[in-house]
Amino acid sequence: MTKNIAVIKGDGIGPEIITQAVKVLTRIGELYGHTFNFNYVDMGGCAIDKYGEPLPQESIDKCLNSDSVLLGAVGGDKWNGMPASLRPEKGLLKLRAAMGVYSNNRPAKIWRQLASASPLKSEIVEKGIDFIIVRELIGGIYFGEHKTETVGNQQKATDVLVYTESEIERIGRIGFETARKRNKRLCSVEKSNVLDSSRLWKSVMHKLSEEYSDVELTDMLVDNCAMQIVKDPSQFDVIVTENMFGDILSDEASMITGSIGMIPSSSLGATSRGLYEPIHGSAPDIANKDIANPIGTILSASMMLKYSFDMEREAETIEKAVDEFLNDGYRTKDIALDGEKTVGCNECGDLIVKYIK
Ligand code: NAD
Repeated sequence: MTKNIAVIKGDGIGPEIITQAVKVLTRIGELYGHTFNFNYVDMGGCAIDKYGEPLPQESIDKCLNSDSVLLGAVGGDKWNGMPASLRPEKGLLKLRAAMGVYSNNRPAKIWRQLASASPLKSEIVEKGIDFIIVRELIGGIYFGEHKTETVGNQQKATDVLVYTESEIERIGRIGFETARKRNKRLCSVEKSNVLDSSRLWKSVMHKLSEEYSDVELTDMLVDNCAMQIVKDPSQFDVIVTENMFGDILSDEASMITGSIGMIPSSSLGATSRGLYEPIHGSAPDIANKDIANPIGTILSASMMLKYSFDMEREAETIEKAVDEFLNDGYRTKDIALDGEKTVGCNECGDLIVKYIK
């Protein structure tokens, strides 16, 4: 099979971690007889430096003409002073909208070898952590009107949170379908005691649940959910929630599994073309030091094989290689306990490639 993959290295640690994922995909191609064509695309701070904007049209076109997109991360202090429309992260929001990827799926799963790296007490971790957060990605407050104005003698800032029934329904379906393939439990998270958009969210979810009678639907307020994720994460199977709540809860969920560097994500819409990226940012504090953990990016490439290219066996081979890497005691700095041997980003990639056989 031949697949064209648009690859965005981005900023900070982006180029280092993407290099490892590309090595892994190349090895998978050799092993299983696939050709992966990597088409490099500029986005983020590096695109601002080159073209004066975070996502030039040429980059959008390359992504839309590919079979899927693999992204490192964008952003960094250098561009923090830019106007909002020219920030690197704006490029990412624009790309998600252009690709129509309205669902972001983030697994929160603890690797048994890393159980002691979780900040939670061992009796909580032992009950198991294995759930998915399905987050709405191209609506809500991040995409509503933003404005700052002067009113009287002070500044006033407004961000608008809008959801339509159809936007809620399409993400709700992804939540129910995902739960159907897992343990058939869906928790819809909102703030219906305060927000109209959440009351609409809740009513659409309940209407949808009539079509998915095999899935148990529960409701939870977002503040309670933030507590429950640290108190008893084993209670969750699939969480479905809106854009901003999902952004915050999925970072919280990543921390209880050990390191933000281990978690992949997929963003999908109505077609098989997806956007795959680790959940962390560009980590400027550790960029160019060869200490970043590339596993979240490598597992994102594995999700691409599984969800966009129907290459289930190939994806499992990558997961098995990561498992063996951890089994043999290798750790990057972020997941190492005191005294454990650590490997750099590059060596981590090389070792995982060696375990692919
Ligand atoms: P971050 O995720 O980049 O870093 C948070 C902490 O986690 C840092 O201490 C970092 O060193 C560590 N970390 C992150 N990834 C790691 C990895 N793979 N291995 C080891 N340690 C890792 O978040 P931040 O510091 O808030 O943001 C930095 C920049 O990234 C900002 O400009 C932000 O806007 C941007 N950002 C981009 C994305 C994206 O491209 N999808 C997402 C979030 C943040």
